Amino acid sequence: MRAWPAPDVPALPIQGPEVSLYDHARDELVATEGGPGPRSLYVCGITPYDATHLGHANTFVAFDLLHRAWLNAGHEVAYVQNVTDVDDPLLERAEKVGVDWTALAERETDLYRADMEALRVLPPREYAGAVESIPLFIDMLATLDAADALYRVEDDVYFSVGADPRFGTESRMARPEMLELFAERGGDPDRVGKKDPLDPLVWRAERPGEPSWPSPYGPGRPGWHIECSAIALCHLGAGFTVQGGGSDLIFPHHEMSASHAHAAGSEFARIYTHGGMVAYDGHKMSKSRGNLVFVSALRNGDIDPMAIRLALLRHHYRSDWEWTDDQLFDAVDTLAQWRKAIALRGGAPAGPVTETVLGALADDLNAPRAVAVVQAWVEATLGTDHLAETSHNDAGAVVEALVDAALGIKL
Ligand code: ZN
Repeated sequence: MRAWPAPDVPALPIQGPEVSLYDHARDELVATEGGPGPRSLYVCGITPYDATHLGHANTFVAFDLLHRAWLNAGHEVAYVQNVTDVDDPLLERAEKVGVDWTALAERETDLYRADMEALRVLPPREYAGAVESIPLFIDMLATLDAADALYRVEDDVYFSVGADPRFGTESRMARPEMLELFAERGGDPDRVGKKDPLDPLVWRAERPGEPSWPSPYGPGRPGWHIECSAIALCHLGAGFTVQGGGSDLIFPHHEMSASHAHAAGSEFARIYTHGGMVAYDGHKMSKSRGNLVFVSALRNGDIDPMAIRLALLRHHYRSDWEWTDDQLFDAVDTLAQWRKAIALRGGAPAGPVTETVLGALADDLNAPRAVAVVQAWVEATLGTDHLAETSHNDAGAVVEALVDAALGIKL
């Protein structure tokens, strides 16, 4: 599937440091090290039944910082993202609003691409749709079947979490918490006939009125976890560097995707990293609560997408926080100030700014610290009357390139 056009990324005068990232499985900051090959990243994409909201944007911008930090450290980056273009929420929404599910998926995926392009998020090398990837899932099911990790309940096929001795090591959750989240997030712990209530569906047999594809298990469609597991392994290979997504994917989604890979005899990600949740009006943004703030709605209201991006970057990617309209207005003012500072013929020395910003981003993507460093330079540049003595003619251009390459903000 096509992704979206890549923005230009300016080359910087110095190379950034190696990147460290918080790994949820080990509960510590770890180096994103690897061999001489590319750093590899898989980020779980959208289910295209609704427009991109700020919670989504927060996650994709966070991993865009990682992508950029790796590029700035001199690494090639292999980035893969999926789009779950067939799944229960999409089919339910299509039926509810009376549109064809494929048309709904295409329309919302197009909107998502436009939002990502406007936010200057670097596109994945491979943007893989679930429907086009169905042969990969069938291959992986065959491997899991050969490993005795699958069983049937009526015509549906389940994965046995008991087939993976490492099950639970990604989320580090106790079983009662797993059971609660599994029930909340699309699982079916109470279905009669399952070996373990936590076993996830990997192939859902065809139901009347639902799309289906042929398979050795009969016509049906894939479960969500096997989708990401198979796509990541196919396009990035076993032991890829980072699995990313929102913190609501820690369990069951990332645990199950890793578990499918382990049971199939493959390593999965080396590092599991999650973005925090964004609230609005006192609650996590969610469709059921109706408190979503859509990126496209802000863009249609003539808001500069760079102000949206800056407002997101003022929060550390792992923190949970609440969106307020004031933050957006502040970001609009800040951008105006930054643009004024870089347009001056001279400014405060920019060399230390480059080094400090790259260092902050390499340290678990500390964007708030990086933004504060740029802000200090802007204030030093705008607020002094000693420009004539100390100004550096190229400082504005250096900061402009830095803010673009490292933070993804085009001034
Ligand atoms: Zn996923």
